[in-house]
Amino acid sequence: MPIRAEERARYPEDWDTISAQTKHRAGWRCECEGECGRGTHEGRCPNLHHLPAYGTGSRVVLTTAHLNHTPEDCRPENLKAMCQGCHLHYDKEHHAETRRRRTELVEEARRENKARYDAEVTAVFSAARRANNARTQGDTR
Ligand SMILES: [Zn+2]
Ligand SMILES: [Zn+2]
Repeated sequence: MPIRAEERARYPEDWDTISAQTKHRAGWRCECEGECGRGTHEGRCPNLHHLPAYGTGSRVVLTTAHLNHTPEDCRPENLKAMCQGCHLHYDKEHHAETRRRRTELVEEARRENKARYDAEVTAVFSAARRANNARTQGDTR
């Protein structure tokens, strides 16, 4: 999977080696056992590196996925060789999750700002009212 420029800095220098070792460990077969969530394969994905993919027949390219989506975490147990189909789907689920989370945070910030704004407006108005009351009382005296 191509790594975006801003993400590349998060990968270790020997990532290519680590990635190759992971695929070798997997016997050059996709290690997804349904984590991708696409539900098109029972048990372990049958896709083998450079062979036609099941279903589509397009050439399989094995990639290495970080199970916790943290590129810095290259412990062997955090890495799985995945065909591009499984990997894309696995990350898509994560991206949807990230988007949801981001939306939640934006909403939260907006609510907080709104509450702060309301409090400020209330403070300004009550200060104005107090000043006005004082002036009115001054006039009646
Ligand atoms: Zn797969
Ligand atoms: Zn899969």
